[in-house]
Amino acid sequence: MKQYCRYCSHCTCESICVIKNRSVNALSMNKCKDFCFNEIDALMSEDKDGEIHRYSPRIKKEKNCKGQMSLNL
Ligand code: SF4
Repeated sequence: MKQYCRYCSHCTCESICVIKNRSVNALSMNKCKDFCFNEIDALMSEDKDGEIHRYSPRIKKEKNCKGQMSLNL
């Protein structure tokens, strides 16, 4: 899973990290060791339905190999 401060429990809605006690870029990916996943978006952005956005992981596409021809050149 890619981690963002916006999905960390330590991030406030003003993009301030309570662990590091400074403002962070909540939208960029990071490799912070203190990351604690929280599915609710700290930035409180809203979905199309007007509800607070929640993390939704991408669903991996399965390969469809049936009937697919190989190209042995
Ligand atoms: S603990 Fe790390 S991942 Fe979490 S808000 Fe702070 S800097 Fe971002």
